[in-house]
Amino acid sequence: LERNADLAMYEAKFGNHGTHAFTPILNQALSARRELEGEMASALEHGGFELHYQPQCDREGRVAGFEALLRFTHPTLGVVPPSRLIPIAEESQMIIPLGTWVLREACRQNRQWQLEGHPPVRVAVNISSMQFAREDFADRVAEVLEETGLSPVFLELELTESVVVKDFAESTQQLQRLKRLGVSIAIDDFGTGYSSLNYLNRLPIDRLKIDRSFIQVLHEPNSTLPILEAIISMAKNMELGVVGEGVETEEQRSMLCLKGCDLLQGYLFSRPVQANRAAALLQAETLY
Ligand code: C2E
Ligand code: CA
Ligand code: CA
Ligand code: CA
Repeated sequence: LERNADLAMYEAKFGNHGTHAFTPILNQALSARRELEGEMASALEHGGFELHYQPQCDREGRVAGFEALLRFTHPTLGVVPPSRLIPIAEESQMIIPLGTWVLREACRQNRQWQLEGHPPVRVAVNISSMQFAREDFADRVAEVLEETGLSPVFLELELTESVVVKDFAESTQQLQRLKRLGVSIAIDDFGTGYSSLNYLNRLPIDRLKIDRSFIQVLHEPNSTLPILEAIISMAKNMELGVVGEGVETEEQRSMLCLKGCDLLQGYLFSRPVQANRAAALLQAETLY
């Protein structure tokens, strides 16, 4: 079925005249994909996925939280990036159990850091649209918090703009259920969708994560600085926190701080790292 669907899509794009010539290549790609899907299913069952953690720093450079990012090392292919993993997981429905695993592992790890005596911080978990669309999603979150013993104030869920504005009435209900649990909500990749801040203002959210694409070009002529200023000042008026994503240079850091951004995340501070290295970052005075 998957092969037929992909073939149909392929033919729609290129016409079916040349299909014969392309079929072997297509088959190769599909079998590689199926193989990876198999490896992922087995990794989910027997262990093999890992989370890395990237710090979000306050204006002084202290770690205020981590974003949990999925990692998978394939026995022969090596490290497979989430940009490849997530679409496969979504198409195969694996994203539901995998997403729950990510949530549980991030909460378990954060609780463990607290039990080890590290200063308590938030952990932010990326949520796929398919997870968010499930009516029982808030129940899953409640179960994970209960199982791991993590207080909801130390969990943040990251949702993209397009996910929350898709069905406004449904999303509002879902977000309200989540807010009742006491977790916080961040809007990921902010600025890349088409929603207005005014629209978002009617949703119970806590934080905006300004997409890396706005921050990358801050120091170029005709830069996105006016957009950045507008986003930050409107977010402040709505009492939302603001995170700058993909901060790589000192110029970007100082500009974001000057404009009033609360939290900064990016390679300038740290790449995503394994849990034990993340714990060491919690002990640092500042990361810059
Ligand atoms: P995202 O949520 O926007 O995550 C930020 C991505 O930017 C991460 O890529 C991170 O490693 C990268 N990044 C952080 N700082 C910098 C920087 O300074 N410069 C540059 N060039 N990149 C930076 P990663 O880990 O490859 O993840 C890619 C995307 O995959 C994520 O984008 C997110 O949408 C998705 N993803 C990752 N983990 C999960 C997960 O557990 N569940 C779901 N549903 N999606 C996930
Ligand atoms: Ca994210
Ligand atoms: Ca993002
Ligand atoms: Ca992104």
